Amino acid sequence: MDPITRPVSINGLRIGGADFMVIAGPCSIESRETFAVTAQSVAAHGAGMLRGGIFKIRTNPSSFQGLGRAAFEIVRSVRAQTGLPVVSELTDPRQIPELFDIVDMFQIGTRNMHNTVLLREVGASRKPVLLKRGFSATVEEWLLAAEYVADSGNPNVVLCERGIRTFERITRNTLDLAAVAYIKQNSRFPVLVDPSHGTGVRNLIAPMCRASAAVGADGLLLEVHCAPHQALSDADQALSLRDFAQIMRELEPLLPLFGRRLARPLRPSALSHEPVPSSTI
Ligand code: PEP
Ligand code: MN
Repeated sequence: MDPITRPVSINGLRIGGADFMVIAGPCSIESRETFAVTAQSVAAHGAGMLRGGIFKIRTNPSSFQGLGRAAFEIVRSVRAQTGLPVVSELTDPRQIPELFDIVDMFQIGTRNMHNTVLLREVGASRKPVLLKRGFSATVEEWLLAAEYVADSGNPNVVLCERGIRTFERITRNTLDLAAVAYIKQNSRFPVLVDPSHGTGVRNLIAPMCRASAAVGADGLLLEVHCAPHQALSDADQALSLRDFAQIMRELEPLLPLFGRRLARPLRPSALSHEPVPSSTI
């Protein structure tokens, strides 16, 4: 299938093997209730990991910037309730120690792909890293950014194609699925696709999910919100809980055609940094 990919383990789950990993959740964590409701629903419909922005990096400084530290306790409890590992973006090396025990994977966003200081610091941390493609980065620059992390001692890098900036305006970005096929043939790093930012258009996400599986992607990163029109960030691309369930229903039977099956999450007790309930000691 893809003999050169080196899978990355996240708390016992693998990205890059026969399993197809779907990571889902809101663009930003906005409240305990919206995150918990969304997380429980995506978990019930086949997500293997959760996403949720804590420190948001927004184009407009007046836009919602995320809950920051106020989200830590929310993430802890939702992670424990669902048993799913969590990925969240960090925007500054000073967040590494703060987030280290809160999330299972660090995300480097599109705006920071060229930030070599941050790449080296997350490399030194050894925590798995989801490295998004810079919106104007060539594939070669993106792969070299991954090498920065690996060269700093952390081979646990998963790439994420999230669309690039072109002249096209009907979509927010141009989703480069040829880059995904290229990476599967030429790089050891697993690669996910983010059709949420890659299109910015809710109705285009389902077909791009199917196309991503067909070109050999190792999984998907999807923005889902329990009340999409009220989302504080990226409302136009937020899938409803029902949209997500429908995408998963359509996708799962297709995966065996491409030699894959849906990644199955572990039980909550398998998550390493949750305290073990005293009744089980
Ligand atoms: C995100 O996934 O939360 C995000 C901000 O994406 P990107 O960095 O690709 O814009
Ligand atoms: Mn977003």
